[in-house]
Amino acid sequence: MHQVLAAVKSDNCTISISALNATKQDEIVFSHGENSLDDPYQTLAVAVLDQKWHIDFYHNWHAASFEAHWPFGWIMIVGLCFTGLLGSVLLYLTGRYFRSEAIIEDRANMLMKMKIDAEQANQAKNHFLAKISHELRTPLNGILGFTQLLEKRPSIDTEEKKLISIIKQCSDDLLRLINDILDISAIESKQTKIEKDEFNLKKLIDESINICQFKADEKGLELIVKDSCEEQEYLGDEKRIRQILVNLLDNAVKYTSRGRVMLLTRYENGRLKITVEDTGCGISPANLQKIFKPFVQVSTDNFSQEGIGLGLAISKELVNLMQGELQVKSHQGVGSAFTLSLPLEINIKKSIKTQASFERKVNEEANIKVLLVDDNKINLLFMNGILQQLGCSVDSAKDGLEALVLIEQNSYDLALIDINMPIINGFELAKKLKQQNCGFPLIAVSAYADQEKINEARGAGFDAYLSKPVGEAELREIIKSCKGNYSSVGDKVNKIQDWIVSEANV
Ligand code: ADP
Repeated sequence: MHQVLAAVKSDNCTISISALNATKQDEIVFSHGENSLDDPYQTLAVAVLDQKWHIDFYHNWHAASFEAHWPFGWIMIVGLCFTGLLGSVLLYLTGRYFRSEAIIEDRANMLMKMKIDAEQANQAKNHFLAKISHELRTPLNGILGFTQLLEKRPSIDTEEKKLISIIKQCSDDLLRLINDILDISAIESKQTKIEKDEFNLKKLIDESINICQFKADEKGLELIVKDSCEEQEYLGDEKRIRQILVNLLDNAVKYTSRGRVMLLTRYENGRLKITVEDTGCGISPANLQKIFKPFVQVSTDNFSQEGIGLGLAISKELVNLMQGELQVKSHQGVGSAFTLSLPLEINIKKSIKTQASFERKVNEEANIKVLLVDDNKINLLFMNGILQQLGCSVDSAKDGLEALVLIEQNSYDLALIDINMPIINGFELAKKLKQQNCGFPLIAVSAYADQEKINEARGAGFDAYLSKPVGEAELREIIKSCKGNYSSVGDKVNKIQDWIVSEANV
């Protein structure tokens, strides 16, 4: 029986064997396991001799059904576990999400703080540069000013003239270096603005050539100009175009040891094109890509590394701001050609006129009464000298208070006012004078050359801004504007309004 049961392999089956007794009742003689009260699943009647046996097969449906439902229980458990797991994962993920949110916020705050720090550092750097520039410009103003006065003296001989021009050249180089550093900082902080005013191309080229002539002469290089432009009067930023041109010419002279430097101009399809060609060392194709990056100097074995690698970077940025192009072609050992192409309008009004206004003689600017206000004795001395050379009569005041007293007692055509002064500074003085309707143009003269100070000066009521060192050419232009061309003070002021005269004229 046990073998049979083992073969059946069912835990839920029970077998009982019963014998039919005399009362015809079944008497169980063998039972496997607990008999169920249920009816047998199957009954076999077996007759052995005259005895009848019943073999009853019982099936424990309850247990079987439990077994049958066991996987469902498992499914429930697995389901619960899965749901629990899913929940935990979701909780973890949401936690992570919130953590990520917090991390992102933290990082955003950190970035914002870094941005503010960087802006503050940049501002501090700009202030530092402005201050350094101020401190360097002040003595340079004296050096360049007295050089200009000295070179005009009839008594000096040729040798002395040469020495003076060397002093001037060195000071100009130093000034250009200071300006380059200020410029790149202004370009980086997007403070550089492009002005649009009328200018004369011939005058601009002559001035640029003059600046580089001395160095070219020293190296025995020919400086040739081929100007093919029919029109000479344009509308654009004269100061910036001259700055680019001087840099290209200066480089051409610097990187050429023999031969010539040629400047060619043409005006085509609304674009002024200026090419500066040299017969110098040239630039390798690989280096052509690098030279417009700030502080990059490509090594040239035969040439000393003068400069700080800013000139072309600044030029390129300025050209971009003017919607122009600056291109270079070069062959090593043969030479280079830089072409500046700018979209410039022709100044029709001026083109019809004669060029007479530029040929005016110094004594035509006489009889201008100028008030000079500056606390620096050296500045007062040489500005006085230059203005007198230009035929002006000059009164000097060493601060704003003295200036106010002089203005009450005299009438002036023009006031040149320093900004940094004790008692009443230049801004306060300008504000007071504008409130009183002083009736003559006020020109700020300062060793600060940054846009912030220039804007502040505009806000205070100044009609123009001159950065030190002040050149004779700039003073001459200002005096011309006051005297010859304009009949009333109102016109003078309108003319000078927004007219930022730069140190680049020096
Ligand atoms: P800097 O002249 O002060 O070094 P620039 O920005 O004006 O800086 O020029 C960058 C580099 O380009 C120079 O160091 C020089 O190697 C190269 N370069 C510029 N102009 C010329 C040129 N005309 N001929 C040869 N190399 C030049």
